[in-house]
Amino acid sequence: MLIINASFINFTTILLTVNENFQINSNNFIIKNGEITLFIDNYDVQQNKITLYLKGEVNIKKECYIFYENICAKIDYGYLFSSEEFHDKYFVDCQMGAVYSKDHTTFMLWSPAASFINLFIYENGDPLIPEIPQKYRMIEYNGLWSIRLKGNLKGYYYTYQVKVYNQLNEVVDPYAKAVGINGLRGAIIDLKDTNPKDFLCDSSPALNNFTDAVIYEASIRDLSIYPDSGIKHKGKYLGLVENQTTSNKGVSTGLQHLIDLGITHLQLMPVFDFSYKSIDEKNPYKYNWGYDPQNYNVPEGSYSTDPYFPKCRIYEFKRMIQELHKKNISVVMDVVYNHIYHKTENIFHKIFPGYYFRTDENGNLSDGSGCGNDLASERSMCRKFIVDSVLYWAQEYHIDGFRFDLMGIIDISTMNMIRDVLDRLPRKILLYGEGWNMNTLLPDSLKSTIENAYKLPQIGHFNDIIRDSIRGSVFIAEDRGFVSGKEGLENLIKFCVGGCTIDCEPYIRKFQIPHQSINYVSAHDNHTLWDKFQIACPDASAEELKAMCKLANGIILTSQGIPFLHSGCEFCRTKDGISNSYNSTDAVNRIDWSRKLKFMDVFQYYKGLISLRKKHPAFRMTEVIQIQRHLVFLSDIPKLTVAFMLKDYANMDTWKDILVIYNANKYSIKLYIPEGHWNIVVNSNSSGTDVIETVDSREINVTGISLYILYRD
Ligand code: CA
Repeated sequence: MLIINASFINFTTILLTVNENFQINSNNFIIKNGEITLFIDNYDVQQNKITLYLKGEVNIKKECYIFYENICAKIDYGYLFSSEEFHDKYFVDCQMGAVYSKDHTTFMLWSPAASFINLFIYENGDPLIPEIPQKYRMIEYNGLWSIRLKGNLKGYYYTYQVKVYNQLNEVVDPYAKAVGINGLRGAIIDLKDTNPKDFLCDSSPALNNFTDAVIYEASIRDLSIYPDSGIKHKGKYLGLVENQTTSNKGVSTGLQHLIDLGITHLQLMPVFDFSYKSIDEKNPYKYNWGYDPQNYNVPEGSYSTDPYFPKCRIYEFKRMIQELHKKNISVVMDVVYNHIYHKTENIFHKIFPGYYFRTDENGNLSDGSGCGNDLASERSMCRKFIVDSVLYWAQEYHIDGFRFDLMGIIDISTMNMIRDVLDRLPRKILLYGEGWNMNTLLPDSLKSTIENAYKLPQIGHFNDIIRDSIRGSVFIAEDRGFVSGKEGLENLIKFCVGGCTIDCEPYIRKFQIPHQSINYVSAHDNHTLWDKFQIACPDASAEELKAMCKLANGIILTSQGIPFLHSGCEFCRTKDGISNSYNSTDAVNRIDWSRKLKFMDVFQYYKGLISLRKKHPAFRMTEVIQIQRHLVFLSDIPKLTVAFMLKDYANMDTWKDILVIYNANKYSIKLYIPEGHWNIVVNSNSSGTDVIETVDSREINVTGISLYILYRD
């Protein structure tokens, strides 16, 4: 006989799977829980499954092994850790981490598996400086370890020394709110000292409906690092608070550029503290996007002017948010709770091995993230960590939205709980993510995927259908989309215009409400829009490529849902054909402000469309029933063309009927339009709300590869 796997399914029951049916003699089993022997009370055999009922409870502070004749197997705790019994016994809903006051600081850490935990207090934030810490033994109550130290500890650093399963680990507090250089020690600070002047009076720009948002994704570093950005604090949080910066050629850059463009939400690529192995805060010459979390509740140090000084990164990040808010721009954080940097060396594993990560019945780590350690968000203390973290950023830093990296790895209950706690705040907070179905060890029915969007009604999903039907597959570089001239996608585009909320033969609705659809054609991943079109259409002229870029995001900005733009797309950003630039150089990733001058017409076009969208609620319907009533498509029109009306004052628009035409043909087409006195506000060259020309005939000429918008009263 071979034991295929052995698991505790509750504190007193072991389930064995063996390779053959056989007659067992329960007296021959020996179960060792550390030094202690556990005795079998009863057992049950069903084919190759053997259930052993124990006389007493297992002690999870010790590993457990089962021996049978000459075989031995480790008994896995993963199933037990996911059980309700475990939750009932150990879940604790209290404030974790270091809670500072002038008179004392309280430290709380959860680990039912630990056999002891010491608090280490240091004077230095850098582990490379030799120092013997002050050591304090923490007290356990049912898995929760705590200690209260008297006196004012402000300015000191701390770590925990955790003894768990015969390992002695020194770890940073996962709840640390401030850290020393490279995030290797927690820092004890008074958060009040980190508030810029008037920060408590800071208020987020108003957001009436989620569909009012125009999201713009950017990296702190990319926005200002270009030599001629005209920005002093290059690559830093403070680089985004510099007012009215321009390049040598006089184009506005940085913050002023965002204001000019008219976006409402700036989505920042990772700004939590990411691994020092990706970017050494002491010498941040290397480039990395930072999708490798190290300290979830602390801003990244390399974007601050002094990463050695724990308050600095917090103060400067808050300053940046405050300044963006003053300029009417909300801030969305890209959060990566699906995995953590480093598989086994990470703090969660060192505090409580086997709890924070999904494993199979043999204890192998789940790898849906591609990083080999998917967080077990469904376990209640892991869920609490994620929920606490999101709420902390929203409350302490005034963050206005969260974009979940690989949201499909997180379970539905966790995402909905996050939605609930954010809804209790007095302002509207965006919540959306990548609902891809990843191969993580969670039943499909529990994953926060697009397929399950109906179970996540107030949460948005990146819409890969609109992305791929406009530009072509992100996986096949040469593949074309509607805009680059691939025929047969007209119906898909129509489906997407309605935010995929309405059936459009043969496509079945994906989303329950328009704001669930995050409409985009490009983001940090994959080729930039310009590069994609250039690769897929090698014969296209520069003018044609520009026209494709304008039409592509023209569709995004006129479709129902929430539009999302990748920084630099408004002046045809290129990354030299590199599809994954996560650790490429600044030269590849930076926003090249000289390009803005070169593609000023494209920038102006995007700006005009954003302004049109913001002024006209017809493009921002909030309910499916409105889309059903007000959106109608024109029929009998040429191939590679989609045309629709937003009719009868859709969503209380001031314009009675709006006619939108997408022509993806290279040549101009004639289109029969409903009778009336039509005002053209968008054509191939110009966009906005001013009337360019009027049309009274039933026929209109639409230029090749272009977007037209007309209205009539
Ligand atoms: Ca870091």
